[in-house]
Amino acid sequence: MSLPQSAQPQPASLSHPALSAADPELAALVGAEEQLQADTLRLIPSENYVSAAVLEATGTVLQNKYSEGYPGRRYYEGQQNIDLVETLAVERAKAVFGVEHANVQPYSGSPANLAAYLAFAEPGDTVLGMSLPMGGHLTHGWGVSATGTWFRGVQYGVRPDTALIDFDEVRDLARKERPKIIFCGGTAVPRTIDFAAFGEIAREVDAVLVADIAHIAGLVAGGAHPSPVPHADVISTTTHKTLRGPRGAMLMSRASHAKAVDKAVFPGLQGGPHNHTTAAIAVALREAAAPSFREYAHAVVANAKALAEALLARGYDLVSGGTDNHLVLIDLTSKDVPGKVAAKALDRAGIVVNYNTVPFDPRKPFDPSGIRIGTPALTSRGLGTDRMPQVAEWIDRGVQAAAKGDEDALTVIRTEVAELMAAYPAPGLAVGE
Ligand SMILES: *Cc1c(COP(=O)(O)O)cnc(C)c1O
Repeated sequence: MSLPQSAQPQPASLSHPALSAADPELAALVGAEEQLQADTLRLIPSENYVSAAVLEATGTVLQNKYSEGYPGRRYYEGQQNIDLVETLAVERAKAVFGVEHANVQPYSGSPANLAAYLAFAEPGDTVLGMSLPMGGHLTHGWGVSATGTWFRGVQYGVRPDTALIDFDEVRDLARKERPKIIFCGGTAVPRTIDFAAFGEIAREVDAVLVADIAHIAGLVAGGAHPSPVPHADVISTTTHKTLRGPRGAMLMSRASHAKAVDKAVFPGLQGGPHNHTTAAIAVALREAAAPSFREYAHAVVANAKALAEALLARGYDLVSGGTDNHLVLIDLTSKDVPGKVAAKALDRAGIVVNYNTVPFDPRKPFDPSGIRIGTPALTSRGLGTDRMPQVAEWIDRGVQAAAKGDEDALTVIRTEVAELMAAYPAPGLAVGE
């Protein structure tokens, strides 16, 4: 395969001198990953590029410190600086999202959701969430998840005709099953979540409404998606998707639920918080408060809409017919290419996506009919709507090449992709700067 020089695996990056000296083998892998992230078109909607500042914060000595407890109430001494770091992150979260309480300690999105169960339900209680193959998350009560085995998960889906959430079904299930918790939000939902409609149903049946905004937190922070704050009791989010922070999570709530949330995270579920991550969350939230982040969030949506339009023009079937947010779910049934075959071929073409079930998928979850794409990462590199027809053309050529098993065509696309991406240096990467 002939790749441009910039696409060849490079020696370990000079930006990690200690690592390169101490562990050349590992440093080479990091360097290769930097190169891969620089050269490819990353369309996985849950991924992004953090800024150099966020990246630096995750690599600080804050990682050396144990801090079980909360600012001012720790079980370890020496918290003079750590308390201030965590307080900064908490205050910034409250300001960015307009919430009364924020807990920045959950290790990731899944433990954050588990803490919500611990705070508001007992094992065996009924919880209502969106089913995984319809676009929900494992932790919303799906069977193979602890949340679906320790709790009684009842699941709602989307309407077969519109692929939109069926609120008649949600209301009927809520009235019949009387769940302790209702989860809304998902991992493959291309449309605006109607938090008001969920809030009304939750209040009617006296359930705690958890809005899981893991995917869309950056859009909410940037005003490109309605906020769940007036409607949800608890807001759960990762910090590493559209919010463009480190891998971590937050639980936010009304003041009345603050104690329950905090107790569930620590000591209920976790030990010491990851202070280096907390610091990086604080940095990301400072970035999210800047006017440029509003522009970013709206650009992510504009790019997704432009990409959806370009794919529709090429005859692709999109679940729900398009998108309101950062995500597009393509049903490849009419193209006669299984999602996994397409995803693997696109990967060889330098276009990174994931295969995904589509609602009412006749195929198996490990070999489904669709691929899921999104625009957060490419928007972080500065690509605009004018580039989306080209992205759609590459996807189309890649899918056709997958159908024909044409490896040469994939190689050509890979070269073209690497050439374009070289013109858009990735934030935080030494490569290409
Ligand atoms: C990503 C995601 C999670 C889980 O986050 P992890 O950090 O992968 O554990 C939970 N809920 C939703 C809706 C997500 O998209």
